[in-house]
Amino acid sequence: MSTLTLDVHTSPLVALPESVGGWFSPTTSALLYGATEAVLVDTQYLADDVAEVARRIEASGRTLTTIFITHAHADHYFGLERLLQLFPTARAVALPSVVAEIQATNEGQRKQWRAWFEGKALDNTAVPEPLEGDTILLDGEELKVIEVGQADVAPATLVWVPSLRAVIAGDAIYNGVNPFLAASGPAEWPKWIESVDKIAALEPQIVVAGHKNPEAADDDLAATVTFTREYIGAFIEELDASSDSRDLVARMRARFPHTLNPSALVLSSVTAWKRKKTDHA
Ligand SMILES: [Zn+2]
Repeated sequence: MSTLTLDVHTSPLVALPESVGGWFSPTTSALLYGATEAVLVDTQYLADDVAEVARRIEASGRTLTTIFITHAHADHYFGLERLLQLFPTARAVALPSVVAEIQATNEGQRKQWRAWFEGKALDNTAVPEPLEGDTILLDGEELKVIEVGQADVAPATLVWVPSLRAVIAGDAIYNGVNPFLAASGPAEWPKWIESVDKIAALEPQIVVAGHKNPEAADDDLAATVTFTREYIGAFIEELDASSDSRDLVARMRARFPHTLNPSALVLSSVTAWKRKKTDHA
């Protein structure tokens, strides 16, 4: 039996300003703790949610040693600067590929974030250090960091917690929320499915999705691994069969009627159809 505890915080679904339109999906961060130490995977980005994560770290009574960032998207790491102020002895790390991507895109994301969240999101210039090797120690227990390649973006990494048979999956896995397929295209989607298969091969019992319905369970593999694989496969099929982006949205809604945040599906569909038209022009 594991001596580790997993505590997942999920942010709410957030309305974006009218100039942008749509909604931003609920985002997770995962706190793992043992007898004396704690490790946080992904930081949240809205001031209120980062404060809630900090409160949970304090409430655990453990020492936060490490903050690990799964990938270079602001929703997963813009709480970093604030958390490092609150927990100055913690070290922030990510795999070298993710560190490089954060360095290359931080400035652009800061601009976009200011426009999208109008002061509700934190600004962040903190960059994690490159993790040497693939291991994070938590009270002597080894957590394994795995580079999965493609997720909703690349590079994408995850944390495997052997004693809990838990994957903290970043955006390789979605749970009850429309996956974001607008930052990748037909060349990348099969690779994303391969990433999902790599996760399945670990035979996890718990999969914490980067974006999930706050009501959804983390130990329901049909809702995480199977759902993500089927959704991407369905999107590929329906893009091919559809007559335009509206039709694609309707077809996907018919197949996944209860999936949260249809505005993410609209963005994925419009982007995919734009690309399809350009490719055939
Ligand atoms: Zn994300």
